[in-house]
Amino acid sequence: MKTEDDAMASRRQFVGGVTAGLAAALTSPAFAQQGATPAAPGASAGPRRHAGRPATQSSKQDPTTQYRRPPFPPQQQDPPGLAGKMDPRPDHGETSYRGSGKLVGRKALLTGGDSGIGRAAAIAFAREGADVAINYLPVEEPDAREVIELIRAEGRKGVAIPGDIREERFCKKLVADAVRELGGLDILVNNAAAQAAQHSILDLTTEQFDSTFKTNVYAMFWITKAAMPHLEPGAAIINTSSVQAYDPSPALLDYAQTKACMVIFTKSLAKQVANQGIRVNAVAPGPFWTPLQPSGGQPPENITTFGEHTPMGRPGQPAELGALYVYLASQEASYVTGQVYGASGGEGNP
Ligand code: NAD
Ligand code: MG
Repeated sequence: MKTEDDAMASRRQFVGGVTAGLAAALTSPAFAQQGATPAAPGASAGPRRHAGRPATQSSKQDPTTQYRRPPFPPQQQDPPGLAGKMDPRPDHGETSYRGSGKLVGRKALLTGGDSGIGRAAAIAFAREGADVAINYLPVEEPDAREVIELIRAEGRKGVAIPGDIREERFCKKLVADAVRELGGLDILVNNAAAQAAQHSILDLTTEQFDSTFKTNVYAMFWITKAAMPHLEPGAAIINTSSVQAYDPSPALLDYAQTKACMVIFTKSLAKQVANQGIRVNAVAPGPFWTPLQPSGGQPPENITTFGEHTPMGRPGQPAELGALYVYLASQEASYVTGQVYGASGGEGNP
């Protein structure tokens, strides 16, 4: 197992060798400025700033100012959007997450592993010693490349499997390819999602309704079903649900329903497979600063104040969820199954 110094050294090496864009972001004065110093409440972003980051994973800080607070610069992308084009850039734990050997030798497949919450989990899994395969849409290749480089910088296997999970055939191939490349499967994270805000049910087309359910619900079913024959006792499935399953926003009628489906899928499957030694849990995040939101997930007018309404007064950064996915995947959570973990800055359920 690698020591912390080895890990730090490999990260330093990574920062030296990584793609110019990410390296620039990691070393830019704006990033450094916001490194150990909390962003002032309500501070203006300025161009291309990082969201801020903790000095270390374990340093004590005020969580309300640990990361950027609204207002954020107005911004829009076409879906699915790129983390690399967000302002400020989200923090996925690239420079802060430190592993301690919790997942040594495990093999993990994550959908939506290129950006946002899935990227944070992918980085954390690799730093904990897992080999990691990520799925994403082909247009997200620039984000995915950065994640694969980060995984490989840990000396772990990083496997990129682009493709559209709205197709059952692709979902089966995704699992088969991941199992072949990784040499098995221990951890499955159903994390990809589509979210397109519509103010009225009259604007919600059958095509959108169908596409949202295909991405968020059918794909979870297809991928999980294909993965089951490969999972052995000690394996873990983690589904990314949402606070929307409990406290839906008016503009997210279709999306909120899919996230509620995921809660019951999780609880139902957990009961079905507990006697096989396979655990199934879900995470229900509140507002997190990811490409999903400025690429149609929120009405554009909501982006500048995103997360402001929470008791924390800011959105979460994906890095703030990495450790939770690690816990649910690890043997430390051996008695945890059929549970939904909220992470929504003080509001919502569960
Ligand atoms: P994100 O945009 O970084 O990740 C979503 C990913 O879904 C994309 O990266 C993309 O790769 C994938 N995806 C979408 N359509 C796909 C398709 N047809 N085929 C293959 N992949 C597809 O955003 P995120 O916020 O990190 O989203 C991750 C999960 O978190 C989602 O399940 C989302 O519902 C959930 N979530 C997010 C928030 C939030 O505020 N960001 C809140 C609650 C729940
Ligand atoms: Mg993405």
